[in-house]
Amino acid sequence: MKKILGYDIYYKIDVEKLSFSGKETISGESDKSIWLNYSGIAIESFRVNGKETPFETDQKEQLIKCLTPYTGKFEIEIHFSGKIDESLNGIYYSRENGFVFVSTQFEATGARYAFPCVDNPEFKAEFRVTMDIPSDYDGISNMPPERIEDHEGRKIITFQKTPRMSTYLLYLGASRYDMLEGKHEEKPIYLASAKGKMQASKMPIGMASDTLTFFEDYFDIKYQLPKLHLIAVPEFAFGAMENWGAITFREIELMVNESTSSAILKRVDEVISHELAHQWFGDLVTMKWWDDLWLNESFATFMSYKALEHKHPEWEIMGEMVTGETGGAMTGDSLRNTHPIHVEVKNPDEISQIFDEISYGKGGSILRMIEAFVEPDNFRNGVREYLKGHSFGNAIGQNLWESIEKVSKKPVSKIMDAWITKAGYPQIEASVNGNKIKLHQTRFFLDGSPDNTLWPVPLTVVYSDGVKSFLMDEEEMEIPLQSFQYINSNRTGFYRVKYDGELNENIKKVAPTTMDKFSRWGLISDYSSLYFSRKISIDELISILNMFQSDMEYMVMDEISGIIMSLHNILQNSRKIDSFGISYLNGMLNSLGTFKSGEPINITVIRGRMQSVLSLIDLDYAKKTANRLSDFEKVSPDERQSVAYAYAMARNDLDGLLKKLETLRVDEDKIKIISAMGHLKGNENLTAVWGLIRDGKIKKQDSFRAIMAASGEAQNRQFIVDNMEEIVSTLDRFFEGTGYTSRFLESMIPYLGLQDEKSVKEYISGKNEPSWEKGVRKGLEYLNIYKKVNTE
Ligand SMILES: [Zn+2]
Repeated sequence: MKKILGYDIYYKIDVEKLSFSGKETISGESDKSIWLNYSGIAIESFRVNGKETPFETDQKEQLIKCLTPYTGKFEIEIHFSGKIDESLNGIYYSRENGFVFVSTQFEATGARYAFPCVDNPEFKAEFRVTMDIPSDYDGISNMPPERIEDHEGRKIITFQKTPRMSTYLLYLGASRYDMLEGKHEEKPIYLASAKGKMQASKMPIGMASDTLTFFEDYFDIKYQLPKLHLIAVPEFAFGAMENWGAITFREIELMVNESTSSAILKRVDEVISHELAHQWFGDLVTMKWWDDLWLNESFATFMSYKALEHKHPEWEIMGEMVTGETGGAMTGDSLRNTHPIHVEVKNPDEISQIFDEISYGKGGSILRMIEAFVEPDNFRNGVREYLKGHSFGNAIGQNLWESIEKVSKKPVSKIMDAWITKAGYPQIEASVNGNKIKLHQTRFFLDGSPDNTLWPVPLTVVYSDGVKSFLMDEEEMEIPLQSFQYINSNRTGFYRVKYDGELNENIKKVAPTTMDKFSRWGLISDYSSLYFSRKISIDELISILNMFQSDMEYMVMDEISGIIMSLHNILQNSRKIDSFGISYLNGMLNSLGTFKSGEPINITVIRGRMQSVLSLIDLDYAKKTANRLSDFEKVSPDERQSVAYAYAMARNDLDGLLKKLETLRVDEDKIKIISAMGHLKGNENLTAVWGLIRDGKIKKQDSFRAIMAASGEAQNRQFIVDNMEEIVSTLDRFFEGTGYTSRFLESMIPYLGLQDEKSVKEYISGKNEPSWEKGVRKGLEYLNIYKKVNTE
């Protein structure tokens, strides 16, 4: 195949039989043979240039191949049909109150489940879609309708032709909708949900419009499509998906109103911004192949935080990017089983497994590092040049570095090449040597082993008279000691720092008062990783955490709360960390005081998080808090999770939680109860909770929350291990083709392995699932590290 010019698709949806049938005309040009991707579709006829043409199908390779060679322009006409199923991939449905909700998820390779196509991002084409649906249904696609006709009790919607775009960005939706409408300049923005489920105010439309304004200015290119849909999908595997002009979301990632918690409010604005960034980065300019997926995702990740930083300076959102994205990526990337940002991918299993903390978090953090290195104006101008040069086309990472390098005149390509092709990241060791500081770089591994991989590291060093920049591209270098304060200003660099000897003693003394907030967060994160790599003891770690017990910075409180929670779960004897945690969290909560309307959003969020941790580690606190469940809807939204946890921990009463669950309307609240169910104790409770999941009484997309919570809870691990076969295969069925099973196993294996390593390993060794492989290997590596810290 040489190129595809266009698809003209007539798509008929039968909501009774849950099936589709279609007719498409594909025009293009072939260099020697004609083939298309397809999966699970029946091909009823296949004609090339008006003639019936012999073809063969290869189910394993998901291909339809024309048996006669062909060169030149062609027009293929295919009649096909297939089933709409419940898996959350391709074209699928969920059942609502008296109707069905049909939606699509085509990234990475779902389009081939809905219609035969060249399902490769480089084969961009124009799409003209016609949907044939029941007359009481509505249809949504990437473009607005051009014509709507009634035909024998059916509604036929012909949508305007799309610009050139990739197959994975096409959207087909059919259901009964509730719809709110707003505008961005002259273009309509629609907020859509299944009928009867609109719980949002128009807030998401305002968020989207403000972000579009920011991006149109930042990229210097207008939003390209004539309209934008924001669609809340009842069952959805991912957080959201950037289909051009028809973005899909989990309900919880979109539906906000006056009673939404502050944490979710920030999250929704971030997710909307992320998907809108993709309308340029991904949709307008697309990676040539999936090995550059990271470029899409890192860019959207970084840009979403930039948009929020601009829209809501009071949220101090870059802190969230660093604690969430950078922090998570540094943990995952310190494993032996990590991968470089840029990876070769061939088949769909491999593609779905790279939607991970490396593609999003590390990639986004590296962009933040390079932006600081070339300065923000140069970075933006380079990005503009890249987008304008490749609009409606495809590009590779190198094209972007070249644009930024040209504008900034700094060695961007050399630095980026190293950072995206090498797995892991450096640790810079700093020690005093006469009147100099000697720096030494090694690759950092969480298991503590040495390695001499080198990176060109853009260093920023803080002196009392200002910040100095250096490019460290060798194993060792020296910098002046005079008036030195610390390394990695604002933590823009993706590396850890280990201070030795007198430098370490001094840093510990001055850190709480002299370091910027990002660096205080970084110092705590570095020490906690030194604990996991067994360079410092639990007592030393706790003494360092203690230094920050009056630090009211959100990032610091968030990091320390996270460490308390994870060590409580990891350590079989968690007495020391629990007693520190209980005193730290109670002290902080005292200082924060009770919720006051109008307080800074980050205070509201962190108070809720700290209360949640405390409910799980302190039974006295849980007992005091549990009775608030009866007033659940009156509790401030950010504090509801802690109330649900407290009730599970103190009362161990499944019926009480279920009764509450039945009364709740919004997913955000339901999820809090479902997560709490994973903390109930005893086989009877756990069997009942598992039954709810297995029998579909809990939304498929939310089912994993109770299982993940139960894996963290020491007393519940044996139940999960004993039922692993059924639990994993059920989740795998729910999330087929999305790569989620791999992620679930990565999180579960370390905890379950601490309980019953033999059974877990027996279970794994009986499976040979390429789509789980990465998660299993990472999970086992975490297990080894957790076992070692338990021997101290
Ligand atoms: Zn994305």
